[in-house]
Amino acid sequence: MSLARRVQRAAPSATLATKAEADRLRAAGADLVDLGLGEPDFDTPEHVKEAAREAMRRNETHYTSVEGMPALRRAIADRYRDRDGATFEPDDVLAGSGAKGVLFAVIQALVDEGDEVAVFAPYWSSYPEQVKLAGGTPVIVSTREENGFLPSAAALEARLTPRTRAVIVNSPCNPTGAVLGRDEWSALAALAAARGITVISDEVYEAFVYDGLPFVSGAAMQPVLGEHLVVVSSLSKSYAMTGWRLGYALGPREIIRAAATVQAHDASQAPTLSQCAGLAALCGTQEPLRAMLAEYARRRSFLIPALQRIEGVACSEPRGAFYAFPRVTGLYGPLGVHSSSEVAAALVREAGVVTVAGEGFGAPGHLRISYAASLPVIERGVERIAALVAKRI
Ligand code: PLP
Repeated sequence: MSLARRVQRAAPSATLATKAEADRLRAAGADLVDLGLGEPDFDTPEHVKEAAREAMRRNETHYTSVEGMPALRRAIADRYRDRDGATFEPDDVLAGSGAKGVLFAVIQALVDEGDEVAVFAPYWSSYPEQVKLAGGTPVIVSTREENGFLPSAAALEARLTPRTRAVIVNSPCNPTGAVLGRDEWSALAALAAARGITVISDEVYEAFVYDGLPFVSGAAMQPVLGEHLVVVSSLSKSYAMTGWRLGYALGPREIIRAAATVQAHDASQAPTLSQCAGLAALCGTQEPLRAMLAEYARRRSFLIPALQRIEGVACSEPRGAFYAFPRVTGLYGPLGVHSSSEVAAALVREAGVVTVAGEGFGAPGHLRISYAASLPVIERGVERIAALVAKRI
């Protein structure tokens, strides 16, 4: 059977493949410690679930408009006005099925056949594939480990061509945890504005920045970027709502309308009950976020030093998100392997620990180790890795 060329160009999701493999092994009885998780291990806050129950009782079970309920779009626009001083109106907001669904619609709306989209590596694995599915070409721009994997304007500038349509910025970054400060943001924004390139800022990990560092949203760059800015985020990670599938984009009305047209012929809208729950999450108490952040910080302060103590593992400190991204090339010799995907496979096979290999993020030589798992689980996972390495060194 012959499949469409655009589908053949796209690779399956590395992270979802890891999850499927771990689920398969667990079903077959394997005792696994899963540090491959790309989602919070917390449950959705109770008042958010209650809002969905109430909405169901009120029979809010029908279609909404494609763009989402007016009250939700207003709450989203207000958040960026109050926090970042941005001037988005409710009509500049598109709610959709997760950040992933909204990003897909925005990229479809912006990228033409042959257009280039700059993507900083290491990257979340869906960016290049979504660009390819739109007929575009992802242009990978390297970041440097010794600079904390921070996207640099100079590195971006060197890769721009007349075909560059957009650049995707992800802060805090999955998988590296890099967090853009105001200076780095300003340099990127000035370059993009000068060259007329749209910045797509993916901020799904915005709630997770550590050590008192401020989170700087792309929305704060609106005075420089103007019409060249689309902010994408979701409630998935911040509010532990991955399964509800609620994300959103804010941007110039023309782009938002075009992305809504794409969504109109695809998912239609974000699920109605999820929109009701999302409104409660955005407008209700933010205390659960603080509690979750404190717990992630506690796990991070155990995990990073524990990984640094393992011979052959070099781990810098992530500033945000909930992943460690150590270099594991020092384990190739002891484990008798030649790549990080083989390290990940050996860890599953010989230590029963699930991680995600760096290859899927455009960063061979690394592993992504999630701390969206309870501290005892993280401790067990690290102990198992350390014991395996100690045996082999
Ligand atoms: N962007 C990044 C960087 C992510 O890591 C993820 C999920 O893993 C998403 C977007 C998608 O999030 P959502 O569940 O809102 O679709």
